[in-house]
Amino acid sequence: MSGFDESAKLWFSGRYIDWKDANIHVMSHVVHYGSAVFEGIRCYNTPKGSAIYRLQEHIQRLFNSAKIYRMKIPFSFDEVFDACVQVVKINGWEDAYIRPIAFRGYDSLGVAPGKCPIEVVVGAWHWGKYLGDEALAQGVDVRVASWNRLAANTMPALAKCSANYMNSQLIKQEAMADGYVEGIGLDTNGHVSEGSGENIFVVTNGELLTPPLSASVLPGITRATMFTLAEELGLKLREANIPRELLYIADEVFFTGSAAEVTPIRSIDRITIGEGHRGPVTEKLQTRFFEYVNGELPDTHGWLTYVTKK
Ligand code: PMP
Repeated sequence: MSGFDESAKLWFSGRYIDWKDANIHVMSHVVHYGSAVFEGIRCYNTPKGSAIYRLQEHIQRLFNSAKIYRMKIPFSFDEVFDACVQVVKINGWEDAYIRPIAFRGYDSLGVAPGKCPIEVVVGAWHWGKYLGDEALAQGVDVRVASWNRLAANTMPALAKCSANYMNSQLIKQEAMADGYVEGIGLDTNGHVSEGSGENIFVVTNGELLTPPLSASVLPGITRATMFTLAEELGLKLREANIPRELLYIADEVFFTGSAAEVTPIRSIDRITIGEGHRGPVTEKLQTRFFEYVNGELPDTHGWLTYVTKK
């Protein structure tokens, strides 16, 4: 069920090792305090070879997340970047979901990290459609979470820190317990923030809106892609605070994320959104997104890092 390929190799602080040997001690700092920052990146099988999507931006966000937490990653940008490429390559995969993570390891257990070493691991596996196989075409049913996203100046939302995902787990598990696939979190002002692992976009009155970074959102790489694609497609997109009730009366709502890609939302709190299926604006952006990541359009933005060349 895990979806892991346990015969795979992964990169562990500078060495390629067997999956089964990638262990840490239970008294490691990260286990007790959630002291880790990480990324989730997709590699697509394109006609020209396997290509990692926006690797540069993901590694930059990893280093940014670490900086916020005063965590000095003991490897260079290029070393971590290269490890992501090599992990896909040495396992001989055509597509993959890549998970780099930097965490405070084993030494002592004060909240202050003391001399705990910072370890960096890059693992990967095959991850299918995150919100289900039919989600991309049919859309998903979601709820607004009873839990809020992280309050400003508490857990920094711009950092992709493991501990933030305790909040995501509350949102996701609550939604699933009630028969939804995902939950939408509001920020502590009551404005729409994001899903437990996705940014959110709303189509209303002929324009596209997405919450600003100050609404406790992760600065999503797919979110950034939407700004580029909207411009290319002549769609108006801007950041705006979104009241909860605008979700219900919007023409279209969709999620974006490396795992979720571009997923339409067809109902929220059992209220049908628009026509109750993928709307035309979502479809346009989704189609263009897949054309780029699958290498069907020329890589004019320099988004693809080829692992192998066919
Ligand atoms: N918000 C959260 C909380 C996430 O975990 C993710 C997934 N990384 C996103 C948004 C989407 O970000 P990206 O497009 O960079 O994957």
